[in-house]
Amino acid sequence: MENFNKSFNLKKIDLRSDTVTLPTDEMREAMKNAEVGDDVYKEDPTVNRLEELAAKKLGKEAALFISSGTMGNLIAVLTHCQKGDEIILEADSHMYYYEVGGMSAVAGVIPRLIVGNKGVPNPQDIKKAFREENIHYPKTTLICLENTHNRAGGTVIPPKVTEEICQLAHQRNILVHLDGARIFNAAIALNIEPSDLVKSVDSVMFCLSKGLSAPVGSILIGSKEFIQKARKNRKMLGGGMRQAGILAAAGIIALEKMVERLKEDHQNARLLGIGLNALDGLKVDLETVQTNMVNFDLQEVGMDTAQFLPKLAKYNILGSPRPPAKVRLVTHYGISEENIFTTIEAIKEIVRN
Ligand SMILES: *Cc1c(COP(=O)(O)O)cnc(C)c1O
Repeated sequence: MENFNKSFNLKKIDLRSDTVTLPTDEMREAMKNAEVGDDVYKEDPTVNRLEELAAKKLGKEAALFISSGTMGNLIAVLTHCQKGDEIILEADSHMYYYEVGGMSAVAGVIPRLIVGNKGVPNPQDIKKAFREENIHYPKTTLICLENTHNRAGGTVIPPKVTEEICQLAHQRNILVHLDGARIFNAAIALNIEPSDLVKSVDSVMFCLSKGLSAPVGSILIGSKEFIQKARKNRKMLGGGMRQAGILAAAGIIALEKMVERLKEDHQNARLLGIGLNALDGLKVDLETVQTNMVNFDLQEVGMDTAQFLPKLAKYNILGSPRPPAKVRLVTHYGISEENIFTTIEAIKEIVRN
């Protein structure tokens, strides 16, 4: 390791998440100069501009600027559902796994879990989960999909699958919400317009603060009527922000300037995945390396996550734990191709020793 640190630069390589991206100089400039007003009165021209731009990009009527993806998903559930309703979602979905149980604690719904294949639910499994009317049953009102699927490794749901699920749902008067925190990664990976990925869903949330590098904020999108109700629910949760144009200004740059470059993150993830998979004993499911994430399994190396990550940190490289024996690495705007080679070399040394 002594030699290693001499031969590579010591700048931190932070692969924990794309949320660690810092605002670009252009964003900071736009934030400084942003025209602002009180957004609770809908008088912030920069927020209004961001919301119009976001709705247009996804081909829907209206959008709402929100403080986080978690809040956006919760507002969607609150807006679509009543207390006691059942919502269907993938067993490893972010909404179920990482959102502090908000759907139950705050919105009062119960989750019904469907196990997908690499994050993609089988429409037939969803169909089987639909219940006939019965006095004992909760009412199923919502299906939530996740594209790209975080815990599955950043995998993409193909538009045909989304369409089929929406069709089955709508026949039953069930609505579909898409947790599209990384919907632009999905669109770039599929080489299609993001609007083609969300055509039939009733609402979408996406994050400005991840790969798109804005400092704060997410967007909730849907019909005018949905967004009007969602705006009130945002207020109820304490999410009514005032001169939020300061933040929205960065969001506009994120949407206009930072989408196309996600390609580079995907190329870097691919490079990293292939490089790590070639190391003795390290297992990467390359089929899941479709966007900007790489998950690898340490089991065969005889190390667990808790042993591995501190060793990696000694090389100034950070990853996310997926215990007991997996690690997640995420590529983003702050990561260069050179960083990828450095990371592969470091991990090679760690697993060899
Ligand atoms: C990050 C993420 C969220 C939540 O976004 P926050 O802004 O961190 O609250 C929701 N869904 C998915 C799939 C995510 O990756």
